[in-house]
Amino acid sequence: MTPICGKLFVLTAPSGAGKTTLTKRLLAGDPALRFSVSFTTRRPRAGEQDGKDYFFVDHARFERMIAGGELLEHARVFDNYYGTGRAQIEAHTEAGTNVLLDIDWQGARQVRVAMPSSVLIFIMPPSFAELGRRLRGRGSDGEEVIARRLSEARDDMARWSEFDYVVVNEAVETALAELQAVVAGQGGANRTTDPALRGRLAAICRG
Ligand code: 5GP
Repeated sequence: MTPICGKLFVLTAPSGAGKTTLTKRLLAGDPALRFSVSFTTRRPRAGEQDGKDYFFVDHARFERMIAGGELLEHARVFDNYYGTGRAQIEAHTEAGTNVLLDIDWQGARQVRVAMPSSVLIFIMPPSFAELGRRLRGRGSDGEEVIARRLSEARDDMARWSEFDYVVVNEAVETALAELQAVVAGQGGANRTTDPALRGRLAAICRG
């Protein structure tokens, strides 16, 4: 009998696109979907819990994990290292459990190679101007950090064509419904091969 393997769903977005909210809502509505808790060298933010939001480790431990082949993928993002533990992913997928990874585009690219059957989903803000408004509205970063995040976001946004699906997060409820359809295998309108979607994405990236 062929074993039933769980699927990997990779969610990637530029900062400010609303990925955290969508991830939380998606997981809350689908108890069968497990979140992959990443390893990171960055410090915990207020309210973050070790083992739930991230496994917080120091540089030496992270480098040992890379050397030992313990990470399925890893990348440097905003001056810190982030990576996905291989053992955790294998345990879930071998048990037939679907897993959601919230990782950046560099990690998504590595997962595509390591596990070609994974489903890569990009969350796109409705416009570059809206992304700026959202980042400023958070009130947590200074203008210099915002300018850097916006410039990196512009580079990130241009990578949508490397993904299988794109969800434009203009209204959270609509984006969530589209994401749920993609996870259910019914996200045809969000496929990056869809001509209408491609036109919309090209316009967003030009803006
Ligand atoms: P934050 O520090 O705000 O939690 O995350 C910063 C960025 O790192 C986000 O884009 C997030 O998706 C990405 N990230 C989080 N975990 C991982 C990981 O395990 N691997 C990679 N490649 N990126 C990650």
